[in-house]
Amino acid sequence: MNYRIFPKIPDCQISVLGFGLMRLPLLSNSDEIDKEKTRNLIKLAVSQGVNYFDTAYPYHNGKSESVFGEIVKEENLRDKIFIADKMPVWDVKKEDDFYRILDEQLAKLQTSYIDFYLLHAMDGSRWEQMKNLNVTKFLEYAKSQGKIRHIGFSFHDNFDAFKKMCDEYSGFEFCQLQYNYIDEDGEIRTQNPGWQGLKYAAQKELGVIVMEPLRGGLLANPPSGIRDIFASADVPRLPAEWALRYVWESQEVITALSGMNDESQILVNCAVASTAFPNSMPQSQLEVIKKAQFWFESKIKVPCTGCKYCVPCPKGVSIPEIFEKYNNASMRGLFEQTEKILLTDYENLVNWNKGANQCVNCGSCVKHCPQHIDIPLKIQEAHNSLLLKI
Ligand code: SF4
Ligand code: SF4
Repeated sequence: MNYRIFPKIPDCQISVLGFGLMRLPLLSNSDEIDKEKTRNLIKLAVSQGVNYFDTAYPYHNGKSESVFGEIVKEENLRDKIFIADKMPVWDVKKEDDFYRILDEQLAKLQTSYIDFYLLHAMDGSRWEQMKNLNVTKFLEYAKSQGKIRHIGFSFHDNFDAFKKMCDEYSGFEFCQLQYNYIDEDGEIRTQNPGWQGLKYAAQKELGVIVMEPLRGGLLANPPSGIRDIFASADVPRLPAEWALRYVWESQEVITALSGMNDESQILVNCAVASTAFPNSMPQSQLEVIKKAQFWFESKIKVPCTGCKYCVPCPKGVSIPEIFEKYNNASMRGLFEQTEKILLTDYENLVNWNKGANQCVNCGSCVKHCPQHIDIPLKIQEAHNSLLLKI
């Protein structure tokens, strides 16, 4: 395992691969976390040198923090790992909420301190709201009390909003950005700072944690068009390895979080993490990545990462599944075929009253989407396109 150091936190050696605790294995036919499988995954990751674990208040409907906390306690891991957790800023309606929620998180994690504490899913308008609620006073108080050790934020908005947030509070020590070879130019299709964010963070001495290095698993299991591009490269690599190496190529990246829910993913990712160094990919390999970027650019219809922050919808619309089917149909080239194709899986969603036709345009999903997707508009577009082919 390779380790990197945050510019402002020289005493912490962080594994370049971090464990994201938002996609843990589930018990069969259930939304409940499979705790024993999770325990084995965490133990395996620690044995491979992973020391950064990232959870958040809403992950697994609030269960990620508590199941993880139980495992850390039972396996006596607290002194061997760094815990990152996040303030759900959308739930903060008054100043007291900050203090109440943090204490709740510490209780769920069964620890007296959180190493890396982030304001979750910040954007320009949330930063204004949080400032009005004296968020920096809360962060400094929590740090002075030893409840949190380092202050940061995760972010989804354009570069200007990111720059403003970095500039307005010097207490931030790190930030978390969405970065991968599709989202490198963040503002083209998503509201993310992309490479500009990476460079600016470095200028401000903020270490960068990368989220979605595999784009919700898409880059680990890409469509055949991408596999063909990688197969023509002069080095044999799995798609996940191409994606991770590309992220670690940037010196500004301290760790990349992967939501691993399978032992082989951990072993593969750790093996790559042990041999990936900044600025080490030759031009020929960067060209391969460029080709993959162009391919995705031309195919992806909606920049949905499948994070599920937008659900449940009060009308039962399966928003992430609709976007997944829409993007998959495009990536499989179905919209370019002239003959009619039966897209039964979307038809099933419609028959189960989970299709876009159930949407009443209430807008409640939109404010939760970190990618700022106009969900009612785009699910309608997906619906029209997918049903057109039936
Ligand atoms: S806008 Fe439509 S999809 Fe979004 S929450 Fe409302 S009903 Fe559901
Ligand atoms: S639509 Fe937005 S909130 Fe919903 S899963 Fe996709 S990216 Fe996440």
